[in-house]
Amino acid sequence: MDKFEKTMELLAGASDKERSNFVFENRHLCVCHTCRTYNECAMNVKEALYCMTGESPTCIKEKKICACSRCPVHFSYGLTKYFFCLRGAEIDQRAAKK
Ligand code: SF4
Ligand code: SF4
Repeated sequence: MDKFEKTMELLAGASDKERSNFVFENRHLCVCHTCRTYNECAMNVKEALYCMTGESPTCIKEKKICACSRCPVHFSYGLTKYFFCLRGAEIDQRAAKK
């Protein structure tokens, strides 16, 4: 089991409050807003943390660069994927073997 899978296992056993705290804390670490793919639409609706929540519902359609490799969340939870805003959350990309 790798670092990400361990995190998912811990979250599965967490309470709703613990899960919402996890999202809240990590949203502040997300560096998507520094990325060229991130656009004004995403900024206006305050999108972030695509690696956990999944792709941008309507805002991001065009792939430029991905800044996730510079993000503490990517390192801390052992993420292995990129372009979450377009390709979906880490867990879904792994399942789809993207
Ligand atoms: S890994 Fe990417 S999507 Fe996830 S929090 Fe960091 S910058 Fe945002
Ligand atoms: S997931 Fe990657 S490509 Fe998408 S906005 Fe965040 S840093 Fe940029």
